[in-house]
Formats: sequence, C-alpha cells, structure tokens
Amino acid sequence: MNIHEYQAKQVLAKYGVPVLKGGVAYTPEEAEQVARGLDGPVFVVKSQIHAGGRGKGKFKETEAGDKGGVRVVKSVDEVRENAGQMLGHTLVTHQSGPEGKQVKRVYIEAGCDIKRELYLSMLVDRATSRVTIMASTEGGVEIEEVAAKTPEKIILQDIDPATGIMPFHCRKVAFGLGLEGAQIKSATKLLMALYKAFLETDASMLEINPLVVTGAGEVLPLDAKMNFDSNALYRHPEISELRDEDEEDPAELEATKHDLNYIKLDGAIGCMVNGAGLAMATMDIIKLYGAEPANFLDVGGGATKERVTTAFKIILSDPNVEGILINIFGGIMRCDVIAEGVIAAAKEVSLNVPLVVRLEGTNVDLGKKIMAESGLPIIAADNLADAADKVVKAVKEAQ
Ligand code: ADP
Ligand code: MG
Repeated sequence: MNIHEYQAKQVLAKYGVPVLKGGVAYTPEEAEQVARGLDGPVFVVKSQIHAGGRGKGKFKETEAGDKGGVRVVKSVDEVRENAGQMLGHTLVTHQSGPEGKQVKRVYIEAGCDIKRELYLSMLVDRATSRVTIMASTEGGVEIEEVAAKTPEKIILQDIDPATGIMPFHCRKVAFGLGLEGAQIKSATKLLMALYKAFLETDASMLEINPLVVTGAGEVLPLDAKMNFDSNALYRHPEISELRDEDEEDPAELEATKHDLNYIKLDGAIGCMVNGAGLAMATMDIIKLYGAEPANFLDVGGGATKERVTTAFKIILSDPNVEGILINIFGGIMRCDVIAEGVIAAAKEVSLNVPLVVRLEGTNVDLGKKIMAESGLPIIAADNLADAADKVVKAVKEAQ
C-alpha cells in the first residue's frame, strides 16, 4: 500500500526523522492558511498524488499547467494562487500514465535552502533477505536511470537483522555520499531513525529523492515515498487509515474488499484462475498465443459462486476485455461446484464476450457435462494450451 508524501513525512517524523514544517490543504484557502502558519518567506506548493516526477509533470487544460506539480513561491498569495491551479486538475507525470491523476490535496511546505541533492532508499532485498540501503549522489534523478547509466554511483549497504543498523553502516553510506564533518553525524542519526521507521511500520520500500544537504549543513528528506507490506497492515491500523482510495484503481479496490487478488493489466483477455502460480502460467500462455492478458486474478482456494460472480463483474468492468479465460484446477474444490458457480455467475452478469473454460481435477467430467448442458455459449477447453488457443481465436473472430 502506498501513501502520500506528506503522510510519509508525518510517519517518519514520529520516529525522529527531521522534516520541514508543512501542512496538507484541500482548498486554496486552506493552503493560504497553512502558509500563514509557516515562517516564510519561501514556500513550496506540492501536489499530492501517488506518482513520482511531479516537479517535472504538466497539468492538463489549466492555466500555468506547465509550471509543474511542485512549485517554489515567495508569498502566501502565490501559495493560494498556485494551489488553485493544482487542486481539481489533472497532473500528468512520467509515472502517472498519460491519463494523469487528479490532484485533490496539496502539501504546503517551508522552502528549503538546498546545497546538495542526494538519493536514498531502503528496500527489502530478496537476494540477501535483508533490508538494504541504496544511496547515490545523483539526487532528483530516478534510480533506474542511475543504475542504467552510471551504476558505479550506487552505494549499497545491507543490514544484518541480527545486529540491526550500526553506526559504521551509516558512516559508510555517508562517506560514499561525500558528506563531511557534522553532516556525517546528522546523516547517521537520520539513517538510524529511517531504519527504525522502516522496520516498525513493516515498510517494503522507502525512497527519499532528493535527500538534501541544507545551507546550514543539515541532512533532510525533501521528498518521501513509502510503501507498506499489505500482508502486515493488520498490525498497523494507524497506517491502514492513511489509505487514499481515490488513488487506487476502483476494480482493484473492489477486489480487495472481496479478498480476491486482482491486478489490472493492459490486454484484452480477462483471466480468472485459482492459485497465483497457475494465474501467472495462464498469463504467460495467453502471450504465447499472441494476445495480452487484461488482468491477473487469483480467486483463491474456495472459489464459491459468490466469489466467481464478483470476479466476473470485476473482469467485465474493464472496457478493454474482449474475451475471458477461466482456468480452474479443482483440488479441494470440486469441478462440478465450480461449473455451477460459473454458470450462475455468467447468467447474472449477462456475459457479452466469448468465454473459454478449462477445468481439471476432481469431478471434472461432471463439471464439463454441467457446462455443456447449461445452454450458455461456453467454449470448453481440454488443457491450458487449448484454452489459450481457443480464447485468442474467439476474440479475433468476434472482431
Ligand atoms: P517529485 O519527485 O515528485 O518531482 P519532489 O518532492 O522530489 O517531487 O520535488 C521536486 C523538486 O522540487 C526537488 O528535487 C527539489 O529540488 C524541489 N523541492 C521540493 N520540496 C522543496 C522544498 N521544501 N524547498 C525547496 N525545494 C523543494
Ligand atoms: Mg522526488
């Protein structure tokens, strides 16, 4: 789960991470009000959306849209004016997709005297099974770009969970970033606090880009992006509350409410599968047969009629879906029960695209018989390759 920059800064501040003063606003008037409470004379108006690259982003169809989603201004009047040009408008960044994201909140922050911009992140590295600190002197630049062009500039430091973060880890990172004197102490304190925040909140990713060295020699996060392990959210109700449903795909949100693992993709073949591994194999084979999957969907072990119906509705809510492939392995679930669920669901949602079903497992013959006798235009498939072939052909024929 993602949260906004201002929320991440609030979470980090609780762990003693130094952050600039600021406040969130939903209207231009509130933005002005927040600015009045800051010291000035420089303020920064920052669009809050779950996508990076806001500074270089552009607003659609609004005045001064090309001034970007992060603006440094010099008066409270300008704060109000710029907040007005952002709120309610759609910001397109290289991470938002071409459709962009509507800005509903802005963060008004004190202006910072920036001397250097650096990069810092923490993530769970699957290769070492440890939290790894990643840093680079190239602040403001995406880490993927640094990794591609100048990989030698990336500093990596993994943390042994048995010792936790140690001052020498921090010094290594600080030296690598070219910090000196008091800055090293400031960076050590910051890294220790960030690591504690990362562990205690069950974060999966924390990115500070840029981390800045101020004119006064302080080391502070100017941007903050945090991502949490959704499987651990039950331990953190205060973090679950930070979820901004406006930022999430409505279909994915609906799926979460029904305990379905659904991820929307860009293709035309909707997939309903039980088991994540089988779901991935299904997506692969659709590609092999020349089409693209419209989604990943794991209906889980107990594929009841209700779950199948909800899953159907979610798949069909995607206007790009031109055909559906159901691939269910009846292990504990019996194929006849699944077949009944599929038929009931197909009737309920008035299916208008080709549907290919591949069933395998317990009571498979009975399951197939029920589907064949249902009177619905269900295309039965015998195996995975046959199913992929049939759904791709059916979609082409329907065009
Ligand atoms: P994004 O990464 O989405 O573009 P950032 O928060 O990193 O957004 O802001 C973009 C740039 O704006 C930063 O690299 C920094 O140069 C500038 N900036 C952000 N916040 C401040 C601030 N409080 N004071 C001065 N400059 C800022
Ligand atoms: Mg940034």
